[in-house]
Amino acid sequence: MRNANGRQAPALVLFDIDGTLLRRAGPHHREALVEAVRRVAGIEASLDHIPVQGMLDRDILATMLRESGISDRMIRKWMPLLVRRAQWIYARRCPEDLSEKVCPGVAPFLESIRAAGALAGLVSGNLTQIGWKKMERARLKRYFRFGSFAESGPTRGHLVKLAIREARAKGWIARETPVALIGDHPNDICAARQNGIVAVAVATGIATREELAAHRPDFLLDDLREATLPGLLR
Ligand SMILES: [Mg+2]
Repeated sequence: MRNANGRQAPALVLFDIDGTLLRRAGPHHREALVEAVRRVAGIEASLDHIPVQGMLDRDILATMLRESGISDRMIRKWMPLLVRRAQWIYARRCPEDLSEKVCPGVAPFLESIRAAGALAGLVSGNLTQIGWKKMERARLKRYFRFGSFAESGPTRGHLVKLAIREARAKGWIARETPVALIGDHPNDICAARQNGIVAVAVATGIATREELAAHRPDFLLDDLREATLPGLLR
């Protein structure tokens, strides 16, 4: 699929979800993970003490089980069921409308990407259906053609690589097309670095501007109101 003019996109912009597109989207995501562990493993686990920001959902689930003394073998065995169950639970608990949780400047920036014929994608530690459900309820889904989520790889850097590979394989972008990753966590900056793409940090999540600056992103923004596509790809 090419853009509306039948040409390849002039740029690919990849977005993290939590803390980048949405903030304080509610406890439903955490609750879905806890409830999935309860139903599948019969364990009351908490993730209050786990630094979930920047983590992939599968790693969060595995950490909860490991802390309850479950063996790695059982964790691997249960994981497909946990993933299915967590997504099912989230879909039923997600608030109808998350549009008030969208971070400042997100919609105008996504509009500008679309107007430029560029391509927007998701790279998120959320499980696939949780990520897409958030986008749907935040009224942002239509801006994203594709996404790379927690089930697809072991690290965020791996998810970024898969997203770029997919966009190239489908002919949406060329090998030399500029690619940027926008995220709110040092892990997003590292994932961009590992893939040799532009690292854009936004201070709309848990990490402070100072923490993000220490990881030397190419661009550090207070929020996406400061973002322009030409500005980020120069
Ligand atoms: Mg994030």
